[in-house]
Amino acid sequence: MVKKLIAPFQKILIERRLCVGCTHPLDKANKREILDDKRTIVQCKCGRRFILDRELNSYRRATLEEDQEYINKKKKIR
Ligand SMILES: [Zn+2]
Repeated sequence: MVKKLIAPFQKILIERRLCVGCTHPLDKANKREILDDKRTIVQCKCGRRFILDRELNSYRRATLEEDQEYINKKKKIR
């Protein structure tokens, strides 16, 4: 029963540019990496990662592949 409620709630949080885990504003997250000319990956202070689509200027959850891209970029920097 809980599962049915969680998905729409998360969608509302993301639409309001808030982390679905801790409701921290994603615009204030300071860990961000540019993936390509459209997407910026943002990591919340709680560790969840989101994609900022700079064309639409909206957030969504990062896919596993995008998560991996972020991790790979971090490795290159070090
Ligand atoms: Zn968070």
